[in-house]
Amino acid sequence: MPIYNAPLQDFRFLIHEYLDLEPCRDLESMAEATPDVIDAVLEEAAKVSEEVLQPLNAVGDREGCRLEDGEVRLPTGFKDAWRVYTEGGWPGLTCDPEYGGQGLPGFVGLALSEMINAANASFSAYPGLTHGAYEVLHHYGTAEQKQRFLPAMVEGRWAGTMNLTEPQCGTDLGLIRTRAEPQDDGTYRIHGTKIWITAGEHDLADNIVHLVLARLPDAPAGTRGISLFVVPKFNVDAEGSAGERNAVRCGSIEHKMGQSASSTCEMIFEGAVGELVGEENRGLACMFTMMNAARLVTGIQGLAMASAAQQNAAAFARERLQGRALSGPRFPDKPADPILVHPDVRRMLLTSRALVEGCRALGIYTGVQLELERRHADETVRIGAGRWVALMTPIIKAFFTDVGSEVANLGMQVHGGAGYVTDTGVEQFVRDVRITQIYEGTNGVQALDLVGRKLIADSGATLKSFFDHAAGLLEKTTDPALEEFTGPFREALERLQQASAWIYGEMSRDPNEAGAASADYLRMFALTALAFTWTGQAAVAQRRITAGEGSAFYQAKLDTARYFMRRVLPETLGLDAKIRAGAGPIMDPVDEAF
Ligand SMILES: Cc1cc2nc3c(=O)[nH]c(=O)nc-3n(C[C@H](O)[C@H](O)[C@H](O)COP(=O)(O)OP(=O)(O)OC[C@H]3O[C@@H](n4cnc5c(N)ncnc54)[C@H](O)[C@@H]3O)c2cc1C
Repeated sequence: MPIYNAPLQDFRFLIHEYLDLEPCRDLESMAEATPDVIDAVLEEAAKVSEEVLQPLNAVGDREGCRLEDGEVRLPTGFKDAWRVYTEGGWPGLTCDPEYGGQGLPGFVGLALSEMINAANASFSAYPGLTHGAYEVLHHYGTAEQKQRFLPAMVEGRWAGTMNLTEPQCGTDLGLIRTRAEPQDDGTYRIHGTKIWITAGEHDLADNIVHLVLARLPDAPAGTRGISLFVVPKFNVDAEGSAGERNAVRCGSIEHKMGQSASSTCEMIFEGAVGELVGEENRGLACMFTMMNAARLVTGIQGLAMASAAQQNAAAFARERLQGRALSGPRFPDKPADPILVHPDVRRMLLTSRALVEGCRALGIYTGVQLELERRHADETVRIGAGRWVALMTPIIKAFFTDVGSEVANLGMQVHGGAGYVTDTGVEQFVRDVRITQIYEGTNGVQALDLVGRKLIADSGATLKSFFDHAAGLLEKTTDPALEEFTGPFREALERLQQASAWIYGEMSRDPNEAGAASADYLRMFALTALAFTWTGQAAVAQRRITAGEGSAFYQAKLDTARYFMRRVLPETLGLDAKIRAGAGPIMDPVDEAF
């Protein structure tokens, strides 16, 4: 069965050495977040992940969910794990203390999210969706709605969901048909069917708080006529107590490729009582709060499974004996050398590690910007940080989940046949991670968001935020020993800048140019952003080594950074060429070519 050792050393390195937390110093969320507290939280989160959640990952995969008399039963052990998780206060780690949360900074929450997802992605869907629903209600709910719903969600007594998708409506939310009929008492009756709703029904929590997109009778057509409603499984009274059953039920659950223990439900609303959240016809804007937060977490999910796959592959490569090193036997006393000696195996493992640790750094860096955007007293700081977050959201969602799939597959390849058969359990990563490229807006749609919105947002100021951070890093990275990192990073930045300008010019002539370039552009951007994080990480490691405080950990950082710059980043050259080939080769072929 797979192992999982939470990457605590890397989290500590990133949080205490790589990140610049100075701009966060005066934030309320940092008051309690001393280095010791952060370390203690990470260690406890690692324990829950390794000891409680990870052992259930294969069980959940084997047993899956069952629908019995309209109730969804989760696999053996999941209820107990939820109890341990909620009693430990984990759902409220970063939530508002006013509603019972611990108010720690969001980047600590991202580390928790990575660990629990790496240990058990199916389980993590339940707290993940609950937190997303919490965010929406916290942001857009009335004071009274917050008092009634949030404390139980923060405690984990109640869970949450997000109900967008319908049979005729996936990416194109303008096609939503679910109806909301206003009632004299100010509530609404919700009628319609939603499909593929993660955690739509389960037996973990006492109540499930559904956030549902629906249309009012006189709503304008398309996305401008969608409103958001909170529809609990059990109606909630003025004191925040759950009462009688609401008219919403699970019609069926899906059988799917992976994440078998996260229930994927058809939800049927038969005149269920709902309350409006936010303004009428502004539902999509409210839901975007949840979707943007969920997109970051989905990216982290991809990274998490990549990390788990990578560490299992590395452990296997040290033990599996096959063939001899090309330069002569490394272990002549053994019947064969460990496969770690083979260049192709080393390539797969180093690519995996360079992607995983590069993404982890980018994720946590973005977590700090998110914290500044939400909580900093100075509006200019909030706006600047918000631009970084807006720009990185589609990149993190799409690239990290692509990395999840790539690295899970590389991990299987390192295992050979042992990876394909189910005994080692690593094929579960390949299956479990695959959905992350599809839900929360497909990766193709993320790429369109990057070129169609973020590239031109705020007259280019959103795009510029990345180049400003990059220039800041290069300015302070002056050690000539680091030229092997800053040089390729600088070149990649220039390439990205020119590709951005090229796309901007071409898309004003033909919108298909933006669509055709989008996926390659997102990957090019992501790799350049990883070069940014690897340059920063290498600078920290080099400083330590120069100061005589070197260790195998810092040396491994430098080696991986070097590998990234020489063996991964050059992919941007090919992506640049593909982008500049333009839309013609994609849009010109006759229908018979497909
Ligand atoms: C396991 C699972 C869990 C899910 N959980 C939830 C949930 O909790 N809540 C919820 O509301 N939904 C959920 N979904 C639904 C999920 O968000 C959708 O599947 C996803 O948004 C894509 O919609 P679709 O499947 O209808 O694909 P479609 O929209 O039909 O897209 C099909 C293909 O066309 C492409 N495409 C579509 N439109 C465009 C365009 N304009 N430009 C370029 N390409 C385009 C897409 O990228 C994709 O490749 C879940 C789905 C699954 C499978």
